[in-house]
Amino acid sequence: MTPSTAAPPAQGPSPASEQTAAGNYFVANYPPFSFWTKDEVTPALAVLERTPDPDRPLGLYFHVPFCRKRCHFCYFRVYTDKNADEIKGYLSAGVREMEMLAAKPYIHGRKPQFIYFGGGTPSYLSVPQLTDLTNRMKDLFPWDEAVEVAFEAEPGTLTEKKLDAIRALGITRLSLGVENFDDHILEINGRAHRSGEIERAYSHARSIGFPQINIDLIAGMVEETDANWQLCIEKALALQPDSLTIYQMEIPYNTTIYKEMRAAGKLTAPVADWPVKRRWVTEAFAAFEAAGYTVTSATTVVRNPDTTKFVYRDSLWSGADLLPLGVASFGILDGVHMQNHADILPYQMLVDSGRIPWFRAHETTHEERFVREFILRLKLGRVSADYYIQRYGIDPRSRFAPQLAALTASGFGSVDGDSISLTRDGLMQVDRLLHDFFLPQHRDARYT
Ligand code: SF4
Repeated sequence: MTPSTAAPPAQGPSPASEQTAAGNYFVANYPPFSFWTKDEVTPALAVLERTPDPDRPLGLYFHVPFCRKRCHFCYFRVYTDKNADEIKGYLSAGVREMEMLAAKPYIHGRKPQFIYFGGGTPSYLSVPQLTDLTNRMKDLFPWDEAVEVAFEAEPGTLTEKKLDAIRALGITRLSLGVENFDDHILEINGRAHRSGEIERAYSHARSIGFPQINIDLIAGMVEETDANWQLCIEKALALQPDSLTIYQMEIPYNTTIYKEMRAAGKLTAPVADWPVKRRWVTEAFAAFEAAGYTVTSATTVVRNPDTTKFVYRDSLWSGADLLPLGVASFGILDGVHMQNHADILPYQMLVDSGRIPWFRAHETTHEERFVREFILRLKLGRVSADYYIQRYGIDPRSRFAPQLAALTASGFGSVDGDSISLTRDGLMQVDRLLHDFFLPQHRDARYT
């Protein structure tokens, strides 16, 4: 038995840990970001000189860090005060960054399989800004082999003209940050949009034929109630989106809500506890399943699993490369993690001086890549042991025997032949359970 197989205690969470306290729970990557370091940036840059594996897909992530206002639960680096010239300068830096990277041996000549515009609020950009950015991007990285181009949007920024332009750019998935349908809840959580803007944006987006429209909801916003959550489910169902994503509210340390908690000396956030949030997501998933949808991960349901895919997520969780573009962006190339500078000024200064703006990095080991792919793919609800045997020469059923026994004993999962799967209860709290599969040196790390 290696240290990494030490059995975690097979017990449920304590009542205190079921309250929503401050911190990150959501597992977005592995090893945790706190293990990526500045010291690893210089050696990590060597990855750009390597020869790429021709079978490994490439994705692009472009970060737009601007928003109309800062939501109280937001933990991203966003700017609400930049003028048109500053935004233009930022976008020019992004293109310059792409030019530098496109010239590198590891990237040169490769065409992206998927492209993701995230934020912040990509739809905050004007039509001329979006058109110019994407034209210049396509010159460097043609989109003709891209099977998915995803675009995050805040409903209140979407005029019909802008939606028409976004559709014409070649966006395949429009992801609408609805979060809630109640105006009071939207307001007290600091959201910029209101319910009328959701209806207007959705209806026009639907009418112009986006291949996929996704709706984002958050279970557990401040002042959410059972009655309102049921209304949110009904309204989301009535829109018949191609897919629905639901996040359970967490309160990281850099949110406005946490700052208010700290000022008031409170340890518990003013939002529903974890069992209630899990119940709300479970109820939403059940309602969508009753309407013919399929649960495809801990956070998503889709109307037609044969045609509606999340290529960005699935490729990234299966070893694809992701080129990080723009301030604070995360990427991975040939097993090397990197993040760009998280502040806009140093980011732009580095790019303007002809340097790759990576701020921290980490080259994963074979074992870390195995653990990463295991835990991330477990968020889909089911993994095949054979996949890991073929890919890594490691059988997760034996490597993780104590963890899987604990999962089974607690009723959160099971092992059946080749299949390792989570029950619905397990899926609803998968981010908490995944920490037990971390290598010993990564457990109990602050996950930021
Ligand atoms: S719209 Fe998204 S990125 Fe912008 S402030 Fe709100 S949560 Fe943060």
